[in-house]
Amino acid sequence: MIETAERLKTVQEYYFSRKLREVRGLIAEGRPVINMGIGSPDLAPSSKVIDAVQNAILEDGAHQYQSYQGLPELRTAIASFYKNSFGVQADPATEILPLMGSKEGIMHISMAFLDKGDEVLVPNPGYPTYTSVTKLVEAVPVYYDLKEENGWFPDLDALEAKDLSKVKIMWVCYPHMPTGASATKEQFSQLIAFAKRNNILLVNDNPYSFVLNKNPQSILEIEGAKENCLELNSLSKTFNMAGWRVGFVLGSPEHISAILKVKSNMDSGMFYGIQKGAIAALQSTDDWYNSLNDVYEERRNLIFKLVDKLGCSFDSKAVGMFVWAKLPNTVSSAEAFIDDILYDKNIFITPGTIFGSNGEGYIRFSLCVTKEKIKEAIDRF
Ligand code: PLP
Repeated sequence: MIETAERLKTVQEYYFSRKLREVRGLIAEGRPVINMGIGSPDLAPSSKVIDAVQNAILEDGAHQYQSYQGLPELRTAIASFYKNSFGVQADPATEILPLMGSKEGIMHISMAFLDKGDEVLVPNPGYPTYTSVTKLVEAVPVYYDLKEENGWFPDLDALEAKDLSKVKIMWVCYPHMPTGASATKEQFSQLIAFAKRNNILLVNDNPYSFVLNKNPQSILEIEGAKENCLELNSLSKTFNMAGWRVGFVLGSPEHISAILKVKSNMDSGMFYGIQKGAIAALQSTDDWYNSLNDVYEERRNLIFKLVDKLGCSFDSKAVGMFVWAKLPNTVSSAEAFIDDILYDKNIFITPGTIFGSNGEGYIRFSLCVTKEKIKEAIDRF
Protein backbone atom coordinates (compact mmCIF):
# COMPACT_ATOMS: atom_id res chain seq x y z
CA MET A 1 0.00 0.00 0.00
CA ILE A 2 1.33 3.42 -0.92
CA GLU A 3 1.40 5.80 2.04
CA THR A 4 -1.63 8.12 1.99
CA ALA A 5 -1.38 11.90 2.16
CA GLU A 6 -1.03 13.32 5.66
CA ARG A 7 -4.32 15.18 5.25
CA LEU A 8 -6.18 11.89 4.91
CA LYS A 9 -5.01 10.90 8.38
CA THR A 10 -6.94 13.84 9.82
CA VAL A 11 -10.34 12.40 8.86
CA GLN A 12 -12.22 9.15 9.30
CA GLU A 13 -14.60 7.43 6.95
CA TYR A 14 -17.98 9.21 7.26
CA TYR A 15 -19.96 7.87 10.26
CA PHE A 16 -22.95 6.82 8.16
CA SER A 17 -20.74 5.08 5.64
CA ARG A 18 -19.35 2.90 8.48
CA LYS A 19 -22.51 2.49 10.53
CA LEU A 20 -24.78 1.69 7.59
CA ARG A 21 -22.34 -1.06 6.60
CA GLU A 22 -22.91 -2.52 10.06
CA VAL A 23 -26.68 -2.09 9.66
CA ARG A 24 -26.54 -3.86 6.26
CA GLY A 25 -24.60 -6.68 7.94
CA LEU A 26 -27.39 -7.08 10.52
CA ILE A 27 -30.00 -7.09 7.73
CA ALA A 28 -27.98 -9.75 5.86
CA GLU A 29 -28.14 -11.88 9.03
CA GLY A 30 -31.92 -11.72 8.63
CA ARG A 31 -32.64 -9.04 11.26
CA PRO A 32 -35.63 -6.78 10.46
CA VAL A 33 -33.78 -3.50 11.00
CA ILE A 34 -35.81 -0.28 10.78
CA ASN A 35 -33.46 2.51 9.73
CA MET A 36 -34.42 5.79 11.37
CA GLY A 37 -30.91 7.14 11.02
CA ILE A 38 -30.31 8.83 7.75
CA GLY A 39 -32.21 11.70 6.10
CA SER A 40 -32.57 10.22 2.65
CA PRO A 41 -36.11 10.99 1.41
CA ASP A 42 -37.98 7.80 0.56
CA LEU A 43 -40.81 9.63 -1.25
CA ALA A 44 -40.74 10.15 -5.04
CA PRO A 45 -40.06 13.43 -6.82
CA SER A 46 -43.10 14.96 -8.55
CA SER A 47 -44.32 13.41 -11.81
CA LYS A 48 -43.39 16.66 -13.63
CA VAL A 49 -39.79 16.12 -12.57
CA ILE A 50 -39.80 12.53 -13.81
CA ASP A 51 -41.39 13.58 -17.13
CA ALA A 52 -38.80 16.33 -17.56
CA VAL A 53 -35.84 13.99 -17.12
CA GLN A 54 -37.39 11.32 -19.33
CA ASN A 55 -38.04 13.77 -22.14
CA ALA A 56 -34.62 15.37 -21.75
CA ILE A 57 -32.62 12.22 -22.35
CA LEU A 58 -33.89 12.03 -25.94
CA GLU A 59 -32.94 15.62 -26.81
CA ASP A 60 -30.01 16.47 -29.09
CA GLY A 61 -26.82 17.04 -27.16
CA ALA A 62 -28.28 15.63 -23.95
CA HIS A 63 -25.33 13.32 -23.40
CA GLN A 64 -22.55 15.79 -24.09
CA TYR A 65 -20.55 17.66 -21.49
CA GLN A 66 -22.58 20.51 -20.06
CA SER A 67 -21.67 24.07 -19.11
CA TYR A 68 -19.57 24.45 -15.93
CA GLN A 69 -22.08 27.03 -14.74
CA GLY A 70 -25.15 24.94 -15.53
CA LEU A 71 -27.82 25.72 -18.10
CA PRO A 72 -28.82 29.43 -18.14
CA GLU A 73 -32.40 28.12 -17.84
CA LEU A 74 -31.51 26.34 -14.58
CA ARG A 75 -29.89 29.44 -13.13
CA THR A 76 -32.96 31.47 -14.09
CA ALA A 77 -35.19 28.87 -12.40
CA ILE A 78 -33.07 29.12 -9.24
CA ALA A 79 -33.30 32.93 -9.34
CA SER A 80 -37.12 32.76 -9.63
CA PHE A 81 -37.28 30.19 -6.84
CA TYR A 82 -35.32 32.50 -4.51
CA LYS A 83 -37.40 35.52 -5.55
CA ASN A 84 -40.70 33.71 -5.00
CA SER A 85 -39.69 31.89 -1.81
CA PHE A 86 -37.72 34.57 -0.01
CA GLY A 87 -37.99 37.82 -1.99
CA VAL A 88 -34.24 37.53 -2.66
CA GLN A 89 -32.95 38.93 -5.99
CA ALA A 90 -29.97 37.13 -7.48
CA ASP A 91 -28.50 37.65 -10.94
CA PRO A 92 -28.62 34.26 -12.71
CA ALA A 93 -25.56 35.18 -14.78
CA THR A 94 -23.21 36.01 -11.92
CA GLU A 95 -24.68 35.29 -8.48
CA ILE A 96 -25.84 31.68 -8.77
CA LEU A 97 -23.86 28.48 -9.27
CA PRO A 98 -25.57 25.07 -9.55
CA LEU A 99 -23.81 22.29 -7.66
CA MET A 100 -23.95 18.52 -7.59
CA GLY A 101 -25.50 18.61 -4.14
CA SER A 102 -24.68 21.17 -1.48
CA LYS A 103 -22.18 18.76 0.11
CA GLU A 104 -19.74 19.29 -2.76
CA GLY A 105 -20.24 23.04 -2.33
CA ILE A 106 -18.77 22.78 1.17
CA MET A 107 -15.57 21.44 -0.41
CA HIS A 108 -15.52 23.99 -3.24
CA ILE A 109 -16.04 26.93 -0.89
CA SER A 110 -13.32 25.64 1.42
CA MET A 111 -10.88 25.11 -1.46
CA ALA A 112 -11.64 28.58 -2.79
CA PHE A 113 -11.18 30.52 0.45
CA LEU A 114 -8.99 28.56 2.87
CA ASP A 115 -5.24 28.21 3.09
CA LYS A 116 -3.34 25.80 5.30
CA GLY A 117 -3.66 26.90 8.93
CA ASP A 118 -6.65 29.20 8.42
CA GLU A 119 -9.36 28.78 11.05
CA VAL A 120 -12.99 27.92 10.45
CA LEU A 121 -15.87 28.39 12.88
CA VAL A 122 -17.87 25.17 12.96
CA PRO A 123 -21.11 24.61 14.90
CA ASN A 124 -21.16 22.03 17.70
CA PRO A 125 -23.48 20.23 17.15
CA GLY A 126 -23.46 20.49 13.36
CA TYR A 127 -23.18 18.68 10.05
CA PRO A 128 -19.94 16.61 10.27
CA THR A 129 -18.85 17.53 6.74
CA TYR A 130 -17.88 21.08 7.80
CA THR A 131 -15.18 19.56 10.02
CA SER A 132 -13.92 16.89 7.66
CA VAL A 133 -13.66 19.23 4.68
CA THR A 134 -11.89 21.84 6.81
CA LYS A 135 -9.34 19.22 7.79
CA LEU A 136 -8.96 17.93 4.23
CA VAL A 137 -7.93 21.40 3.06
CA GLU A 138 -5.49 21.59 6.02
CA ALA A 139 -7.39 24.36 7.77
CA VAL A 140 -8.34 24.21 11.44
CA PRO A 141 -11.88 23.75 12.77
CA VAL A 142 -12.69 25.96 15.76
CA TYR A 143 -15.92 24.80 17.32
CA TYR A 144 -18.53 27.18 18.62
CA ASP A 145 -21.07 25.94 21.13
CA LEU A 146 -24.73 25.66 20.39
CA LYS A 147 -26.76 24.95 23.51
CA GLU A 148 -30.41 24.19 24.00
CA GLU A 149 -30.74 26.95 26.62
CA ASN A 150 -29.65 29.51 23.96
CA GLY A 151 -32.06 28.17 21.34
CA TRP A 152 -29.07 26.51 19.59
CA PHE A 153 -27.77 29.95 18.60
CA PRO A 154 -24.13 30.95 19.24
CA ASP A 155 -23.08 33.34 21.99
CA LEU A 156 -21.53 35.91 19.66
CA ASP A 157 -20.14 38.04 22.51
CA ALA A 158 -18.24 35.07 23.90
CA LEU A 159 -16.96 34.26 20.43
CA GLU A 160 -15.86 37.81 19.79
CA ALA A 161 -13.86 37.80 23.00
CA LYS A 162 -11.58 35.20 21.40
CA ASP A 163 -8.78 35.82 18.91
CA LEU A 164 -10.55 35.53 15.57
CA SER A 165 -7.72 36.93 13.47
CA LYS A 166 -7.10 33.61 11.68
CA VAL A 167 -10.79 32.82 11.07
CA LYS A 168 -11.77 32.98 7.39
CA ILE A 169 -15.11 31.11 7.25
CA MET A 170 -18.01 30.57 9.64
CA TRP A 171 -20.49 27.79 8.88
CA VAL A 172 -24.04 28.27 10.05
CA CYS A 173 -27.06 26.18 9.24
CA TYR A 174 -30.54 27.57 9.89
CA PRO A 175 -32.94 25.85 10.03
CA HIS A 176 -30.40 23.93 12.04
CA MET A 177 -29.54 20.31 11.49
CA PRO A 178 -29.63 18.25 13.71
CA THR A 179 -31.68 20.23 16.25
CA GLY A 180 -34.37 21.77 14.00
CA ALA A 181 -33.86 25.22 15.56
CA SER A 182 -34.63 28.32 13.49
CA ALA A 183 -32.88 31.69 13.48
CA THR A 184 -34.88 34.92 13.52
CA LYS A 185 -34.17 37.73 11.04
CA GLU A 186 -32.64 39.65 13.94
CA GLN A 187 -30.29 36.74 14.66
CA PHE A 188 -29.30 36.51 10.99
CA SER A 189 -28.51 40.24 11.10
CA GLN A 190 -26.38 39.73 14.22
CA LEU A 191 -24.46 36.91 12.54
CA ILE A 192 -23.81 39.02 9.45
CA ALA A 193 -22.66 42.01 11.51
CA PHE A 194 -20.38 39.76 13.60
CA ALA A 195 -18.87 38.25 10.44
CA LYS A 196 -18.39 41.68 8.83
CA ARG A 197 -16.65 43.08 11.93
CA ASN A 198 -14.28 40.16 11.92
CA ASN A 199 -13.75 39.90 8.16
CA ILE A 200 -15.26 36.41 7.98
CA LEU A 201 -17.09 34.76 5.09
CA LEU A 202 -20.39 33.57 6.58
CA VAL A 203 -21.98 30.57 4.87
CA ASN A 204 -25.55 29.54 5.65
CA ASP A 205 -26.23 25.94 4.70
CA ASN A 206 -29.98 25.93 4.10
CA PRO A 207 -31.31 22.57 2.85
CA TYR A 208 -34.23 22.22 5.30
CA SER A 209 -36.23 25.46 4.84
CA PHE A 210 -39.20 23.83 3.21
CA VAL A 211 -39.69 20.81 5.46
CA LEU A 212 -42.27 21.25 8.23
CA ASN A 213 -41.41 24.93 8.40
CA LYS A 214 -44.09 27.59 8.20
CA ASN A 215 -41.58 30.40 7.78
CA PRO A 216 -38.89 29.56 5.18
CA GLN A 217 -36.06 32.10 5.30
CA SER A 218 -32.82 32.87 3.54
CA ILE A 219 -29.93 34.71 5.15
CA LEU A 220 -29.70 36.68 1.90
CA GLU A 221 -32.98 38.43 2.80
CA ILE A 222 -30.94 40.63 5.13
CA GLU A 223 -29.84 43.93 3.56
CA GLY A 224 -26.17 43.84 2.56
CA ALA A 225 -25.82 40.09 3.23
CA LYS A 226 -24.24 39.30 -0.12
CA GLU A 227 -21.18 41.37 0.77
CA ASN A 228 -19.89 38.67 3.10
CA CYS A 229 -22.39 35.76 2.93
CA LEU A 230 -22.98 32.77 0.78
CA GLU A 231 -26.00 30.52 0.98
CA LEU A 232 -26.09 26.88 0.00
CA ASN A 233 -29.37 25.25 -0.91
CA SER A 234 -30.34 21.82 -2.11
CA LEU A 235 -33.05 19.95 -3.97
CA SER A 236 -32.33 16.79 -1.98
CA LYS A 237 -34.89 17.21 0.79
CA THR A 238 -37.28 19.82 -0.63
CA PHE A 239 -37.99 17.85 -3.78
CA ASN A 240 -37.10 14.25 -2.79
CA MET A 241 -34.11 14.29 -5.12
CA ALA A 242 -31.23 13.35 -2.79
CA GLY A 243 -29.78 10.77 -5.18
CA TRP A 244 -29.88 13.17 -8.12
CA ARG A 245 -27.22 15.36 -6.52
CA VAL A 246 -28.49 18.87 -7.20
CA GLY A 247 -27.93 21.95 -5.11
CA PHE A 248 -26.66 25.47 -5.63
CA VAL A 249 -24.84 28.35 -4.03
CA LEU A 250 -25.77 32.03 -4.13
CA GLY A 251 -23.62 35.03 -3.33
CA SER A 252 -21.81 38.03 -4.75
CA PRO A 253 -20.34 37.75 -8.27
CA GLU A 254 -16.81 37.88 -6.81
CA HIS A 255 -17.43 35.02 -4.36
CA ILE A 256 -19.28 32.92 -6.94
CA SER A 257 -16.55 33.30 -9.53
CA ALA A 258 -13.94 32.17 -6.98
CA ILE A 259 -15.99 29.01 -6.34
CA LEU A 260 -16.41 28.45 -10.08
CA LYS A 261 -12.63 28.58 -10.47
CA VAL A 262 -12.40 25.51 -8.20
CA LYS A 263 -15.46 23.71 -9.49
CA SER A 264 -14.62 24.07 -13.18
CA ASN A 265 -11.36 22.27 -12.46
CA MET A 266 -13.11 19.41 -10.66
CA ASP A 267 -16.08 18.35 -12.79
CA SER A 268 -17.29 18.87 -16.32
CA GLY A 269 -20.87 19.96 -15.84
CA MET A 270 -24.07 18.38 -14.54
CA PHE A 271 -25.98 15.84 -16.66
CA TYR A 272 -28.48 17.65 -18.90
CA GLY A 273 -31.44 15.48 -17.85
CA ILE A 274 -30.81 16.20 -14.18
CA GLN A 275 -30.74 19.93 -14.87
CA LYS A 276 -34.05 19.71 -16.75
CA GLY A 277 -35.59 17.74 -13.86
CA ALA A 278 -34.25 20.30 -11.40
CA ILE A 279 -35.88 23.14 -13.37
CA ALA A 280 -39.24 21.33 -13.20
CA ALA A 281 -38.82 20.81 -9.44
CA LEU A 282 -37.96 24.46 -8.78
CA GLN A 283 -41.17 25.47 -10.55
CA SER A 284 -43.34 23.44 -8.14
CA THR A 285 -46.44 25.12 -6.76
CA ASP A 286 -47.76 25.19 -3.18
CA ASP A 287 -49.49 21.83 -3.71
CA TRP A 288 -46.11 20.14 -3.79
CA TYR A 289 -44.93 21.59 -0.48
CA ASN A 290 -48.31 20.94 1.17
CA SER A 291 -48.46 17.30 0.17
CA LEU A 292 -44.85 16.71 1.21
CA ASN A 293 -45.42 18.30 4.58
CA ASP A 294 -48.68 16.42 5.17
CA VAL A 295 -46.75 13.15 4.98
CA TYR A 296 -43.92 14.38 7.19
CA GLU A 297 -46.32 15.82 9.74
CA GLU A 298 -48.12 12.50 10.16
CA ARG A 299 -44.78 10.73 10.52
CA ARG A 300 -43.48 13.29 13.00
CA ASN A 301 -46.53 12.89 15.23
CA LEU A 302 -45.84 9.15 15.34
CA ILE A 303 -42.13 9.72 16.08
CA PHE A 304 -43.17 12.00 18.95
CA LYS A 305 -45.05 9.00 20.38
CA LEU A 306 -41.98 6.81 20.02
CA VAL A 307 -39.82 9.48 21.65
CA ASP A 308 -42.29 9.64 24.57
CA LYS A 309 -42.15 5.90 24.90
CA LEU A 310 -38.35 6.06 25.20
CA GLY A 311 -38.66 8.61 28.01
CA CYS A 312 -37.09 11.35 25.89
CA SER A 313 -38.28 14.93 25.44
CA PHE A 314 -38.44 17.12 22.34
CA ASP A 315 -39.18 20.65 21.14
CA SER A 316 -42.47 20.59 19.26
CA LYS A 317 -41.59 23.93 17.59
CA ALA A 318 -38.50 22.50 15.86
CA VAL A 319 -38.59 22.33 12.06
CA GLY A 320 -36.96 20.19 9.36
CA MET A 321 -36.73 16.53 8.52
CA PHE A 322 -35.63 15.17 11.90
CA VAL A 323 -36.80 14.90 15.47
CA TRP A 324 -34.02 15.81 17.90
CA ALA A 325 -34.79 14.17 21.21
CA LYS A 326 -33.21 14.72 24.62
CA LEU A 327 -32.37 11.54 26.48
CA PRO A 328 -33.40 11.11 30.11
CA ASN A 329 -30.70 12.25 32.59
CA THR A 330 -30.15 8.65 33.62
CA VAL A 331 -28.58 7.87 30.22
CA SER A 332 -24.90 8.75 30.11
CA SER A 333 -23.97 7.76 26.54
CA ALA A 334 -26.07 8.40 23.44
CA GLU A 335 -23.96 5.93 21.43
CA ALA A 336 -24.41 3.11 23.97
CA PHE A 337 -28.14 3.93 24.09
CA ILE A 338 -28.62 3.68 20.32
CA ASP A 339 -26.44 0.54 20.10
CA ASP A 340 -28.62 -1.18 22.73
CA ILE A 341 -31.70 -0.33 20.68
CA LEU A 342 -30.02 -1.43 17.45
CA TYR A 343 -29.00 -4.85 18.79
CA ASP A 344 -32.04 -5.40 21.00
CA LYS A 345 -34.90 -3.93 18.97
CA ASN A 346 -33.39 -3.78 15.48
CA ILE A 347 -34.00 -0.05 15.18
CA PHE A 348 -31.25 2.30 14.04
CA ILE A 349 -31.34 5.84 15.45
CA THR A 350 -28.54 8.41 15.10
CA PRO A 351 -26.63 9.30 18.28
CA GLY A 352 -26.29 13.07 18.78
CA THR A 353 -22.55 12.74 19.38
CA ILE A 354 -21.76 12.28 15.69
CA PHE A 355 -22.65 15.98 15.33
CA GLY A 356 -20.18 17.03 18.03
CA SER A 357 -19.69 16.83 21.78
CA ASN A 358 -22.75 19.02 22.47
CA GLY A 359 -24.83 16.26 20.88
CA GLU A 360 -24.17 14.03 23.90
CA GLY A 361 -27.46 13.37 25.66
CA TYR A 362 -29.48 13.59 22.43
CA ILE A 363 -30.55 11.27 19.61
CA ARG A 364 -31.88 12.10 16.15
CA PHE A 365 -34.78 10.42 14.33
CA SER A 366 -35.20 10.80 10.59
CA LEU A 367 -38.68 11.32 9.15
CA CYS A 368 -37.72 9.35 6.02
CA VAL A 369 -39.45 6.23 7.33
CA THR A 370 -42.97 5.10 6.43
CA LYS A 371 -45.68 5.47 9.05
CA GLU A 372 -46.14 1.67 9.03
CA LYS A 373 -42.49 1.22 9.98
CA ILE A 374 -42.72 3.88 12.68
CA LYS A 375 -45.78 2.13 14.14
CA GLU A 376 -43.88 -1.15 14.06
CA ALA A 377 -40.97 0.53 15.87
CA ILE A 378 -43.38 1.80 18.54
CA ASP A 379 -44.76 -1.72 18.94
CA ARG A 380 -41.27 -3.12 19.49
CA PHE A 381 -41.08 -1.27 22.81
N1 PLP B 1 -26.05 20.22 4.81
C1 PLP B 1 -26.74 19.60 5.76
C2 PLP B 1 -26.96 20.29 7.05
C3 PLP B 1 -27.24 18.31 5.54
O1 PLP B 1 -27.92 17.70 6.51
C4 PLP B 1 -26.99 17.69 4.30
C5 PLP B 1 -27.44 16.32 4.01
O2 PLP B 1 -27.86 15.55 4.81
C6 PLP B 1 -26.29 18.39 3.33
C7 PLP B 1 -25.82 19.67 3.61
C8 PLP B 1 -25.96 17.80 1.99
O3 PLP B 1 -27.04 17.82 1.14
P1 PLP B 1 -26.91 17.54 -0.40
O4 PLP B 1 -27.69 16.31 -0.67
O5 PLP B 1 -27.45 18.76 -1.08
O6 PLP B 1 -25.45 17.36 -0.72
